[in-house]
Amino acid sequence: MKTMKALVKARPERGLWMQEVPIPEPGLNDVIIKIRKSAICGTDLHIYKWDEWSRKTIKTPMVIGHEYMGTIEKMGAGVTNLKPGERVTGEGHLACGHCRNCRRGKEHVCENTVGIGVHIDGSFAEYLKIPSSNVIPLDSRIPDDWAAIMDPFGNATHTALSFPLIGEDVLITGAGLIGGMAVAIARFAGARFIVASDLSDYRLDIAKKMGATLTVNPSKGEKISDAVKLLKMRGFDIGMEMSGSPAAFVEMISNMYNGSSISLLGILPSDFEVPWSEIIFKAITLKGIYGREMWETWYKMEQMIIGGIDLDPVITHRFSIDDFQKGFDIMEEGKCGKVILNWD
Ligand code: NAD
Ligand code: ZN
Repeated sequence: MKTMKALVKARPERGLWMQEVPIPEPGLNDVIIKIRKSAICGTDLHIYKWDEWSRKTIKTPMVIGHEYMGTIEKMGAGVTNLKPGERVTGEGHLACGHCRNCRRGKEHVCENTVGIGVHIDGSFAEYLKIPSSNVIPLDSRIPDDWAAIMDPFGNATHTALSFPLIGEDVLITGAGLIGGMAVAIARFAGARFIVASDLSDYRLDIAKKMGATLTVNPSKGEKISDAVKLLKMRGFDIGMEMSGSPAAFVEMISNMYNGSSISLLGILPSDFEVPWSEIIFKAITLKGIYGREMWETWYKMEQMIIGGIDLDPVITHRFSIDDFQKGFDIMEEGKCGKVILNWD
């Protein structure tokens, strides 16, 4: 049996291990992608650290990873719309195709979603097997490094484009790996003021490069309400919660304008006091975001890149895959934007 290198969650404890595993064979409608670049997601870091969520979700051994780009190496006999050698990335959520939501064109809220690198073997490997329907061919104008981060760029796009942005004042709480990209999208889509908050000045610097009007660091006593005063606003029209922090969400609510809208990407805990009456009396619309819309988010991403959006400031580190440990160390420290690992 032929084997390949893969980053495996081999044991139910902290860490990841580079191991030799069998090269996958395509089924009738599958594609085998030769991976050229991988990126580290916050989810991969959770699995690396073996936190409570990973202990509940991941069955070891598992090849992890779902942010990548590469070229088509091999295809099943049923695949007719793709070519070997084609440069591609892929949607990391596999939808079942037959539940009510799939059949009404809402595959992103499929009842039976399977996650690559979470429920089945992922892309931190020399070769990845996915269904051909999940493959995204890459326009030649999309640089390789950006192609490798289209999965989180898609989370940012789905969140940011949930409500019209032209002329609107936007608050983004949590200018992390995804929040930083949301700043660029809001700028690209015509927002007026964009205020980003984060506990890390390193990440707020990236947010400024991505187009934030003002940044707020609550860990230094800075307040979102001061930004509202400084910009002479009544409150924000659009909120994007991308920190998962109750404190950030509560501060967001108190700085929203009447009739405003909020999309929620950050995974907030269930056990905190939500200011419901303020949400109701301000007539705020809340929208939960999961993954990327299949496939409109992918179309919008492609067109924003072709149209000139700049994702470079958010990519801060590049390593060889053999130095994956350096990548996970810097992710854990948090002094980074997106970290790319090269297989070439
Ligand atoms: P990240 O850790 O890179 O970003 C979160 C940022 O929030 C960090 O930079 C952190 O410093 C900041 N933060 C923490 N507390 C804060 C506070 N009180 N005020 C302001 N900022 C604060 O994570 P990410 O990869 O950018 O993901 C963002 C969130 O979205 C996470 O909660 C993640 O779990 C979630 N997520 C959800 C989906 C989905 O489909 N719903 C998909 C991917 C990620
Ligand atoms: Zn389904």
